Amino acid sequence: MSETIYCYCCRVHHPKEEMRRFTTRAGERWRCLRSILAAGSSRQARDAFGERQTRQNQESSRRQLDWQADVRKQGSF
Ligand SMILES: [Zn+2]
Repeated sequence: MSETIYCYCCRVHHPKEEMRRFTTRAGERWRCLRSILAAGSSRQARDAFGERQTRQNQESSRRQLDWQADVRKQGSF
């Protein structure tokens, strides 16, 4: 039987191989790799989301300018 360590993140015991020592403000804690990766990937997802929002904003302001240019063109007709 493999050794298990209590994961403070999931509040369950995981096999020792999946565990990494994690330093928090409260001291050293054991956290499983899965929770560490999950935290990292969710941050990446958030970053990607923010980037997409910025691109969308740029896109819509560009479309707004195109539309204004069209209106002006039609107006001068
Ligand atoms: Zn865990």
